[in-house]
Amino acid sequence: MSKDYYEILGVSKDASQDEIRRAFRRLAKEYHPDRNPDDPSAEAKFKEINEAYEVLSDPSKRSNYDAYGNPDGPFGTGGGSGPFSGGGPFTGRDFGDFGFPFGDVFGSFEDLFTGGARRRASTGPVRGRDLEVSAEVTLEEAFSGVDKDIEVTRVESCSRCNGTGAEPGTSVVTCRTCNGAGQVRTTVNTVLGSMTTVKTCPTCGGTGKTVERPCSECRGSGETARTRTVTVTIPPGANSGLHLRLAGQGDAGRRGGPPGDLYVAVFVKPHAIFERQGDDLILNRTISFPLAALGGTTTIPTLEGDVELNIPAGTQPGAVLRLRGKGMPKLRYRSRGDLMVRVNVRVPTRLSSEERELIMKLGRSQDETIGDNRSFFQRLRDAAGGNRDS
Ligand SMILES: [Zn+2]
Ligand SMILES: [Zn+2]
Repeated sequence: MSKDYYEILGVSKDASQDEIRRAFRRLAKEYHPDRNPDDPSAEAKFKEINEAYEVLSDPSKRSNYDAYGNPDGPFGTGGGSGPFSGGGPFTGRDFGDFGFPFGDVFGSFEDLFTGGARRRASTGPVRGRDLEVSAEVTLEEAFSGVDKDIEVTRVESCSRCNGTGAEPGTSVVTCRTCNGAGQVRTTVNTVLGSMTTVKTCPTCGGTGKTVERPCSECRGSGETARTRTVTVTIPPGANSGLHLRLAGQGDAGRRGGPPGDLYVAVFVKPHAIFERQGDDLILNRTISFPLAALGGTTTIPTLEGDVELNIPAGTQPGAVLRLRGKGMPKLRYRSRGDLMVRVNVRVPTRLSSEERELIMKLGRSQDETIGDNRSFFQRLRDAAGGNRDS
């Protein structure tokens, strides 16, 4: 047992399962024999990568290997020459027949080459699929954070048969078609000699086991689709596009594989008065001309209730007044964004004669012509379609 599995996968001794899986996928892709048909050393390397992954991805084998240099523990098992001679997943023959190794590596390959879309017959555990659902929240909910109940339909292990597929009281038996091998061989004699083909057993789908009587609930599949209500905690400051991961809440795994994860895509609904820009909020506010000119205060809404906003004298239309820390909470930080008030100035449309007089007085000091100073006849002519002198 001189092989250094860590070195083979190019990971450190304290690598996480995630790092090991990533390293394995990368290397397996690179050295897969299908991709290296002209390089005989690739196959050997590929087997070595698989062997290393078999050990390091299994916590008990890994700890044995770390402690004793042997994945089977201090004394090992079997007595053959290979590291997994007790019927391990990679014997040369199987490999030649299928082009793929067996064992739980199969599940990974499925994902590697087909994105997990296609199911291959496999005998090892397969991780359940990841699922994605969306959760809609209001801006107020995104502001304070909220627990949302969402419905998710997922594949679960059948509760009636505990996932075995066998009706309770009946047992799981060795498949009679393949005698438990999971594969069937057919030999055809041709003029060129006999040809042997190997296929996944159609009766048991490669598991080597069948049930005496299928479970009445899942009809033998061992799985049922269930709609569950899952509570997801939306953190304060969540924004559209945020994905929350709920580990183990996806589809159930197969043949002892772990369940997939559930991803919740957050969608924050638009708000009636606040516009959101990252962690900042924008509020459009129209104020009167005297307030803009002379300054003062006005009451504005925030997500935490009304506050007084100071308007400096001489505030121009389009000015943006910033209220620091009155915006959205920042995800993973304690600070907050700002509330920006975009000021619009209201021009009065109906004036009393007194107001009109006051504004006229104000206007006299400007280098402009205020009000309609055309003569009565001029106005008549303009109304009839004549040109107005400017
Ligand atoms: Zn069942
Ligand atoms: Zn079978």
